[in-house]
Amino acid sequence: MGKNIYVHIPFCERKCPYCDFYSITDRTSSSAYVDALIKEARAFAESGVVFEPNGSDDTLYIGGGTPSSIDAGDIARLVETLREIYSLSSDAEITIEVNPSSLTAGKAAIYKDAGINRVSMGVQSLDDDVLKTLGRLHDSEGARRAIGILQEVFDNISCDLMSGIPGQTLGSLLSGAEELMSRGIKHVSCYSLSLEEGTVFEKKYIDNIEESVPPETEREMYHKVREVLAQGGLLPYEISNSAVPGFESRHNLNYWAGGNYYAFGAAAAGYLQDMRFTHPASVADYIKAADDLTPGRIKEYFDNRTFQSDLIVTTDIMTEEEKMKEYPFLALRTNAGMNTSRFKDMFGKDIHDVFGDAIARNIERGLLVQDGDRIFLTEKGFDLADMVIRDMI
Ligand code: SF4
Repeated sequence: MGKNIYVHIPFCERKCPYCDFYSITDRTSSSAYVDALIKEARAFAESGVVFEPNGSDDTLYIGGGTPSSIDAGDIARLVETLREIYSLSSDAEITIEVNPSSLTAGKAAIYKDAGINRVSMGVQSLDDDVLKTLGRLHDSEGARRAIGILQEVFDNISCDLMSGIPGQTLGSLLSGAEELMSRGIKHVSCYSLSLEEGTVFEKKYIDNIEESVPPETEREMYHKVREVLAQGGLLPYEISNSAVPGFESRHNLNYWAGGNYYAFGAAAAGYLQDMRFTHPASVADYIKAADDLTPGRIKEYFDNRTFQSDLIVTTDIMTEEEKMKEYPFLALRTNAGMNTSRFKDMFGKDIHDVFGDAIARNIERGLLVQDGDRIFLTEKGFDLADMVIRDMI
């Protein structure tokens, strides 16, 4: 029975021009924010609301924002408290996201001592021109230095890369992936740049076709980087993720399997007892809401299933039909795809009785394949994943 916990640390050293995640650059309240996280975690633990069994292992994911941009001592007391109050197992996967510009050897040692055993670093590229375009605070040497620091302490390291960046070439992306592998990195997430609403990049590139990477080049980058990573032993296991077998993100696999997880922190979204819920996207509001929190109020929220508060600002109760529709949306992201037996166990129905026409249509189009219990996207299907998923739901 796994407990899966996400914690959002919404602080960054500087806002990247392409990013629409909730984060702020004023870090003066970061210790008070960690106090609030601990208050929420304690109240939740004492509320008696149980994590439903997931069948997966315990995982804790400290994401952001940039968790490495705040005091490492605050991260350590947060992780140690969560491990203790949720009795996380000794082999729990405990991940922290870091950036090269704020990582130091001292911080890495503190993370390790606190029980963190997996690090995900936002490298994005090992090409200085691309890093400049992205407005990152580190250059390629900074990324190499940070990888070296992590490797002194951790074995389980993931690096993020980005593709489809204006001015980026296929060669630049592939040589970045090859270098990460040659340095012994066992997990790579490669995300295609998307122009998110309200970002500096959206304004700059939305109508700027000359500078943007053409969609066919971006797709070529996507497939080639997966191919190169696979040749190096990092097998694709999700739309954007490749890993040496055994180094997949257990936390994210639970998420894609539709499992439960609690989420603490500003803008954090969780899923428990068929409810999706979100916390306020404001550090100040979150700290204030955590102040008034009691275990009784958390219990009341889960018992009544209609309760809104300063802490839980939206609640969406999933019906059986909505959960069924969400299944392909999450499962088709993974290379394992949908599983007919799991679907039957979850919903008591044959997947073909629910999605039969859409499955047949997309197999016919060469976008899906059924192999025994598994129904999964082909490589061509991954390009058109949104269309296939829309067709299913
Ligand atoms: S460091 Fe990450 S979370 Fe922070 S602004 Fe940049 S991309 Fe967004």
